[in-house]
Amino acid sequence: MEDKSAKIFIAGHNGLVGSAIVRKLRNLGFTNLILRSHHELDLTRQFDVETFFDIEKPQFVILAAAKVGGIHANNTYPADFISINLQIQTNVIHSSYINGVKKIMFLGSSCIYPKLAEQPIVEEALLTGPLEPTNEWYAIAKIAGIKMCQAYRLQYKWDAISLMPTNLYGANDNFHPENSHVLPALMRRFHEAKVKGAKEVVVWGSGSPLREFLHVDDLADAVVFSMEKYSGLGHVNVGSGLEVTIKELAELVKEVVGFEGELVWDSTKPDGTPRKLMDSSKLAALGWVPKVSLRDGLVDTYRCMPCFFHFAED
Ligand code: GDP
Repeated sequence: MEDKSAKIFIAGHNGLVGSAIVRKLRNLGFTNLILRSHHELDLTRQFDVETFFDIEKPQFVILAAAKVGGIHANNTYPADFISINLQIQTNVIHSSYINGVKKIMFLGSSCIYPKLAEQPIVEEALLTGPLEPTNEWYAIAKIAGIKMCQAYRLQYKWDAISLMPTNLYGANDNFHPENSHVLPALMRRFHEAKVKGAKEVVVWGSGSPLREFLHVDDLADAVVFSMEKYSGLGHVNVGSGLEVTIKELAELVKEVVGFEGELVWDSTKPDGTPRKLMDSSKLAALGWVPKVSLRDGLVDTYRCMPCFFHFAED
């Protein structure tokens, strides 16, 4: 992607990840970004995707479109999570190949790894044990995407790469009260409690699970970096290396939002996987480093929250 006028299709540009990638590419001076909203192009529709690629012929594709959600959404809509994601990625990857795309990046998630993978999780842990049941539907689809990129690379010598980000957050996140991930869910709940003058905020689970969080602007940086610097069969982890317990996260979000009441733990809600820390040394060895601290990232996310407030499912 040396040429700033290269034609780049960012699938999913309205989402948390896609919008950050668009911001990054625009900041770097890229002028020829191809963007389609869900309404303009439904990526689950094979014929529509084929027609789009046939007409547009992008040179590069970044596949950030996916049906995503937190622990509750994954548990409640398993059919949607597996089928929509399989359809989107199959259509986009295959059409990209058929239409001569030079390089494609597939974005996955840390939930592809076994529930009890050794920590920090190395790329080689993929498919070495059972998945966390609360998000196995999404994970199976993402694993299929990685394998599809590998298969096309092997069979067609095509430059398809996959990046696996850890838990992401930032502007344009989904702040749905039940279906979102922990960080935006808590930010919204604390904010509403502060506005209403409530005394308590409910937080799910035990508070003991450990999670690593990466600001989405750091991910966008890693995406552009990897498009330019990485070309290989294996998928690559991208994380911040910083992990906190859900309790620590809740306290930090509470402080950033300025809520002064108490936390109440709802132990009827699932904890999910006990720990999820990526080993991102493969990307670090290529020269990539994250820059945004959790506190700065939270402040930025909270500042952006009201203007980007939306309750979309995906
Ligand atoms: P996960 O990282 O795939 O498990 O997804 P989540 O971000 O949904 O959940 C992470 C952890 O945060 C789990 O232990 C949840 O029980 C906990 N958690 C605490 N409060 C909330 C909440 O309001 N929403 C969500 N989604 N998770 C919460």
